[in-house]
Amino acid sequence: MAEDTFMGVKREKIDWCPTIDFSKCDFCMECDKFCPHQVFERRDGEIKLVVANPHNCVVFCRACAKTCGPDAISFPSKPETIAKIKKIREEEGEQ
Ligand code: SF4
Ligand code: SF4
Repeated sequence: MAEDTFMGVKREKIDWCPTIDFSKCDFCMECDKFCPHQVFERRDGEIKLVVANPHNCVVFCRACAKTCGPDAISFPSKPETIAKIKKIREEEGEQ
């Protein structure tokens, strides 16, 4: 199986995934219905949805945020993430 990499860096080293603000989320599940990558998982209990598989999220995708009426989904900064990826690549190149 091909290793899952992005810009030459292992996907699991890249911090890119949605964060849910549970003070805004109304658990409509539109984000989960929309995303085809099983990033979210439904739960029983007070918190009914979690970001269970953050590394399944496509790096720099933000599409599910558009489905969220209460604007409860946020993402890291793209420029900062690119800078971090470049730094990881440099560090790995030095090894
Ligand atoms: S940003 Fe894209 S890949 Fe990531 S959880 Fe949302 S829809 Fe899925
Ligand atoms: S779309 Fe927004 S409000 Fe609906 S479950 Fe997802 S994060 Fe919560």
